[in-house]
Amino acid sequence: MAFGTRIETWYEGAWHAGNLPILGAADHGTWLGTLVFDGARTFEGVTPDLDLHCIRLIRSANAMGLAPQETAEEVEAIAREGIARFDGEDLYIRPMMWSREGAPGMIAPDAESCTFALCIEALPMPPANGLALTVSSFRRPRPDMALTEAKAACLYPNNGRMIAEARRMGFDNALSLDAEGFVAETASTNAFLVRDGHVCTPRPNGTFLNGITRQRVMALLGDVGHPVEEASLTVDDFRAADEIFLTGNASKITPVTRFEERDLQPGPVTAQARALYWDYAHGRL
Ligand code: PMP
Repeated sequence: MAFGTRIETWYEGAWHAGNLPILGAADHGTWLGTLVFDGARTFEGVTPDLDLHCIRLIRSANAMGLAPQETAEEVEAIAREGIARFDGEDLYIRPMMWSREGAPGMIAPDAESCTFALCIEALPMPPANGLALTVSSFRRPRPDMALTEAKAACLYPNNGRMIAEARRMGFDNALSLDAEGFVAETASTNAFLVRDGHVCTPRPNGTFLNGITRQRVMALLGDVGHPVEEASLTVDDFRAADEIFLTGNASKITPVTRFEERDLQPGPVTAQARALYWDYAHGRL
């Protein structure tokens, strides 16, 4: 989907303007959904943790059974070259890998046919307005049910129906539960709660993305005396929270200002997490 105002794509050794066609009609990845991707962001002239996003792309490709021809360092260098082609706008940076060919038996990818493209879209950072969160009726698959260890495009239709359901109910996003009924994450971010000054977030159990922003925020809060506890959290824990905030590459730290029918204020820990992240991103720590 082209959502940016300007798009530049690295493909087969060159930069191309616009929403470049990159998938062949007979590509294995087109047919059977083996595409993995990652998302990094430039805002206010900085691109925090770009290296980690590139490392995760390679890990996702390996989990998908692909043999990337590029290293994480090479992907990062291409991303930096692409960022320099823009004029300081906020950017969404999306490296992608997929299989062109199938292995014998056709369903598994031919690892060596792994193909790479990197798309950068000019995309302003959204304002930090709070958002309204509900609870999804759709669950997260366990690692023995889906390839949850990869950031794979084929996982996202489940997230898409979570968002669509939430929007139909008048909300922006939804908490989703794992197969055991514990909160996993939202359809597009990780989730944190604060109660009596104590910060908690779901413990990674393979059912959701252990986000790069999540891990960054945990480290930053821990450094200033707000250790974040990873725990098996229920919806009732979120109902009892003083603050709820979400983390993810695209918007960084977003306060939740309504959870189900309850209004919430953006609280002091959320504000501190956001301020710390900005300081980190700008190299002020
Ligand atoms: N969960 C999901 C489903 C996501 O799509 C994202 C965004 N990549 C996140 C969590 C947050 O991860 P990160 O902080 O690494 O962007």
